[in-house]
Amino acid sequence: ALKINGTVIKKFNQSLIESVEQEMNVLSHFSRGIKNSEFFPVLQPKVNIRTGEIESFEALARWVSAELGFVSPALFIPVAENTGNIYKVDLVIFRKVLQWQKNRLDAGLKLYQVSINISPSHFYNASFVENSVALIKKYSIDPKYIKFEITESVELDNVLRAKKIINELQQYGVATSIDDFGVGYSSLSYLQELPFEEIKIDKSFVDNLSNPRMNAVIKTIIQLSGNLNMISVAEGIETEDQHNELKKLGCNIGQGYYYYKPMPIEQINDLLADQMTV
Ligand code: C2E
Ligand code: CA
Ligand code: CA
Ligand code: CA
Repeated sequence: ALKINGTVIKKFNQSLIESVEQEMNVLSHFSRGIKNSEFFPVLQPKVNIRTGEIESFEALARWVSAELGFVSPALFIPVAENTGNIYKVDLVIFRKVLQWQKNRLDAGLKLYQVSINISPSHFYNASFVENSVALIKKYSIDPKYIKFEITESVELDNVLRAKKIINELQQYGVATSIDDFGVGYSSLSYLQELPFEEIKIDKSFVDNLSNPRMNAVIKTIIQLSGNLNMISVAEGIETEDQHNELKKLGCNIGQGYYYYKPMPIEQINDLLADQMTV
């Protein structure tokens, strides 16, 4: 019995060591990756659920490392977060999105709002608003084309600070979205206190739409966001059934493989060019 136990424990330790090694490996290549511009955004369309039209995009970070090859965001995002480096990823993606929009502006093409993911630690940085405003001005982009998605992890003692930041951004014209709603520290009281313009219902909810209790929860979130004048977005939509159900529930925006996968900027430009000729 001891031997069986021993094997189990050894296996567990082995996988723990492997994951620590993997993380150290990622970390040791991270700075050079940032310096050498190995990080870039892919864009995933956010679709009007009623009409199917592309309304906006979400930018998602990708990393193709010279030494490591493709590194999954599931690996590098937590490593960057835990080492205080996540703002570097956020900013690279933000700049590259602004450059894309600037290129379209210069070419006389239609602009789209793009959501940038901002890690909570970055969001709470004292100069976040100031730096963001300066960056948007530098690229001469109308702030209405930028939205920040912040993962729901705001603890209650930070509500006042969050409110101040969201208000400052809103005054300047940048919208904010509460990401992964329903999985974190969700509290209805802070939903009514924080003036987010958009609420993103997490994929884990969408996955369980056919469960009547979950369906009731999602229905309530969609109604609530409507009552609070917030846009409802459902993420991770993969099937026609999910699409139909969310449409029925009155959800505003859908995002997921059912519509489009995240794509590199060149592919997005092609997609938008094709749409123009339809
Ligand atoms: P998220 O913000 O919740 O983004 C949604 C994730 O779901 C993305 O994973 C996207 O590729 C994936 N996804 C979209 N539609 C579907 C679908 O229909 N099915 C499935 N199975 N997945 C779908 P990704 O790109 O791997 O990003 C993972 C997470 O990493 C993001 O979750 C976000 O929290 C974080 N992240 C990505 N880019 C950045 C960034 O630039 N800055 C920060 N701070 N975090 C980022
Ligand atoms: Ca997001
Ligand atoms: Ca999300
Ligand atoms: Ca998520």
